[in-house]
Amino acid sequence: TVAIVLFTSDLRLHDHPPLHSALASADEVVPLFVLDDGVGAAGFATPNRRAFLADCLRDLDAGLRERGGRLILREGEAAEEAARVASEAGADSLHVAAGVSAYAQRREERLREALASVGSRLSVHDAVGTAVAPGGVVPSGAGRDHFAVFTPYFRRWSGEGLRSPFRAPRAVRVPQGLGSAALPSRAGVRGLSPGLAEGGETEGRRLFAAWRRQGLAAYEDRHDDLAGDATSRLSPHLHFGTLSPTELVHRARAAGGPGAEAFVRQVCWRDFHHQVLAARPAASRSDYRPRQDRWRTGRSAEEDTAAWKEGRTGYPVVDAAMRQLLHEGWMHNRGRLLTASFLAKTLYVDWRTGARHFLELLVDGDIANNQLNWQWVAGTGTDSRPNRVLNPVTQARRYDPEGAYVRRWVPELAGISGPAVHEPWKLPERERARYDYPEPVVALPEGLARFKEARGLD
Ligand code: FAD
Repeated sequence: TVAIVLFTSDLRLHDHPPLHSALASADEVVPLFVLDDGVGAAGFATPNRRAFLADCLRDLDAGLRERGGRLILREGEAAEEAARVASEAGADSLHVAAGVSAYAQRREERLREALASVGSRLSVHDAVGTAVAPGGVVPSGAGRDHFAVFTPYFRRWSGEGLRSPFRAPRAVRVPQGLGSAALPSRAGVRGLSPGLAEGGETEGRRLFAAWRRQGLAAYEDRHDDLAGDATSRLSPHLHFGTLSPTELVHRARAAGGPGAEAFVRQVCWRDFHHQVLAARPAASRSDYRPRQDRWRTGRSAEEDTAAWKEGRTGYPVVDAAMRQLLHEGWMHNRGRLLTASFLAKTLYVDWRTGARHFLELLVDGDIANNQLNWQWVAGTGTDSRPNRVLNPVTQARRYDPEGAYVRRWVPELAGISGPAVHEPWKLPERERARYDYPEPVVALPEGLARFKEARGLD
C-alpha cells in the first residue's frame, strides 16, 4: 500500500506524527509538499518567509534522500495536487497535521472532498501546536470553546500529559516515477532582509542544541534583555515546524530549572493563541473584543506610520527595534511589545496596519501569534488591562539599561554613551545638533492625552 504525507507547517523528520503513522501503515510513502497558490494569493508568501521555506524544503529533501527517499514537490492548489498525486501513486490514504487557521481548516475540507473523488482517505493528525489535544487546543469545558485568560489555560495545559516524541525514521521508501517540481532556493528570492536566519531542520536542531547548553538556564533572568539577545530565536523554526514543540517541551523539562520552566511557559503562549484562533478564526482580522476605537487616519497618521515602519520616529528604542525587523526579519519580543504599543497607543493607529507590516517582514510571521499578540497589545484582544500604555523611554531604561541595543541598530547615535542615548532630545543643543537623528514624531504626554481622550479615559 501507498500513503501520502502532506507536509505543511511541519517541515521535519523528527517527531512527525503524520509521517510516523504513514510509515507504520503503508509499504511506501510519498512525502509531498505543495507550493500552494492560495498562500501566494493571500499575500502570505513574502520574501523572508519564501527564502526560509526554500532552505527548509532543501533540507527536508536532503534528509529524505539520506533515508533512501526524496521530497515530491508540486505547485498549485494543495487539495487538487494532493488528489492528483494520490491517483498517480495509487495512494489509499493521505496523512496531514491539523491546522488552526481558517485557511488550514478550509484546506482540510477541500482535501477530504478531493481525495474522496479519487478513492483515497484523509487522516488528520494531532497538531502543529504542543498537541496536548488536536490543534494545540485544550477544551475548556463549561460550554466554552476556548480559554480567554492565559494563566488558567497554562495550568490546564501543564496538567495534560505530553505524548513522547517520535524518532526520525531510518528509511523512507518512495514509489518510483513520480514527477516533482524543482526545489526553490533562497538565491532565487529577491528583497529579503540581509540578516535573515537560515532555515531547515538541521539548522533548527543545531540552534536548539546550542541554546539548550548555553541559554536555557539563564532564560528566566535574561529573556527581556534587549542587548543580551538571550532568547532562543527558535520562532521561525516553530513557525515552519522544523522543530517540534512537543520535543522542545520534553527536552526543556528534562533539563529542568527556572529557565526551562519560563521557556516552556513561553512556548505555551503559542498554543494559547492557537486555541483562541481555532475558536475565533475572524480574530485574525476583527477585534477579538469589539471596541469603539476610531483609529487615526489621514495624512498625519500616514506620515507617522511611515516613520514607524522605517525606524525614524525619534524614539531610539522604537527605531532600533523597527530597524532590527527590517534587517533580520525578526525582532526581540520586548521590541515587538514596545513598538506595537507605540503604534497602536502612542500614535493611535489601527493595530491591523502594524500587524500587516510585521507579517510582511517577520520570518516567523504567523497568523495566530502575530494577530493575537497585536490585539493583546492594542487592547482589543485577551489582555485584561487593555488600556495600559508602554512608555518607550521607561521601557528602554529598564530593558536596555546601558543603551547597547540602541547603539547597535541606530548607528547615528553610537557616539552617545550610556543610557543618555535613549533621550537625545535632552542633550545640550550644541551636542544634539551633531547627530543626524529626527525629533520625536509626537511628545509622549501628547500621545497619551490623545489616547485617553479617544478611549474615554480620564
Ligand atoms: P523565546 O523567548 O525563546 O520563546 C520561545 C518560543 O515561545 C518562541 O519561539 C515562540 O514560538 C513562543 N513564544 C514566545 N512568546 C510568545 C508570545 N507572546 N506569543 C506566542 N508565542 C510565543 N511570535 C511568532 O512566532 N510569530 C509572530 O508573528 C509573532 N508576532 C508577534 C507580534 C507582536 C506584536 C508581539 C508582541 C509578539 C509576537 N510574537 C510572534 C511573539 C514573540 O514575540 C515571538 O515568538 C518571540 O519574540 C520569538 O523569539 P524567540 O524564538 O527567541 O522566543
